[in-house]
Amino acid sequence: MEKIVILTGAGISAESGLGTFRDAGGIWSENRIEDVATPEAFARDAARVHRFYNARRVQAAAAEPNAAHAALARLQAGHPGEVVIVTQNVDGLHEAAGSRGVIHMHGELARALCAACGLRWDAAPEMSPSDACPGCGARACRPDVVWFGEMPYRMEEVLDHLAGADVFAAIGTSGEVWPAAGFAQEAALAGAHCVEINPEASAVASDFHEARRGRASEMVPAWVADLLGGAGDQSL
Ligand code: NAD
Ligand code: ZN
Repeated sequence: MEKIVILTGAGISAESGLGTFRDAGGIWSENRIEDVATPEAFARDAARVHRFYNARRVQAAAAEPNAAHAALARLQAGHPGEVVIVTQNVDGLHEAAGSRGVIHMHGELARALCAACGLRWDAAPEMSPSDACPGCGARACRPDVVWFGEMPYRMEEVLDHLAGADVFAAIGTSGEVWPAAGFAQEAALAGAHCVEINPEASAVASDFHEARRGRASEMVPAWVADLLGGAGDQSL
């Protein structure tokens, strides 16, 4: 049974109205990464960092999954082998579409983390520097997202999945943020067939065996239909 490992990036949520890094006029063009998405920024001005993530949390909570998220949930339900979704996204749109076991390597907007004791809990829609940790009481609450300069979560588990993959797909990711940019190479070394689904060639496009160029909402359902083809016919 083929094991399929999928990496998703900001591009899969673009058509749900959540901007990618590069979108002109998007949140990232108004806020420099150094000011809102690093541990140094949080140490300097926690209120500003909270304001930025509060705005993103509200926006993400109001967003709907699109046809690409839905197609991946169908693939998980219909593929006879394992389908693992690893996402760089901090939104919850895979779960909203019905996907399960999603590995959030960059954390989740919907969760809060105490920098003092490590406790995690469901984030209130609005966080502030004066919030007290429900466990230890410290006023050191932060969004449970991985900032630039921090270690992504669950990397050992992800590398294990890549080592066992028969198919690897990267969807809507620029290939400019590491270590995710190296996943295709890891999977290819393990013998997986690597597919890039993105409107343009990513920074690591040459690591893939196949490219499907276009928007996620069109290309992902088509790819999933190809994968489920036989099984889909049988269930008719
Ligand atoms: P990126 O912004 O660097 O790249 C996005 C990629 O998506 C680009 O290659 C672009 O060509 C592609 N794209 C744009 N529109 C698309 C569409 N309709 N369909 C398919 N692809 C499309 O994003 P990244 O590679 O994920 O790296 C970025 C970092 O940004 C991650 O750390 C992530 O945590 C963070 N981020 C997350 C969100 C989110 O959670 N929704 C949004 C913005 C940024
Ligand atoms: Zn605490």
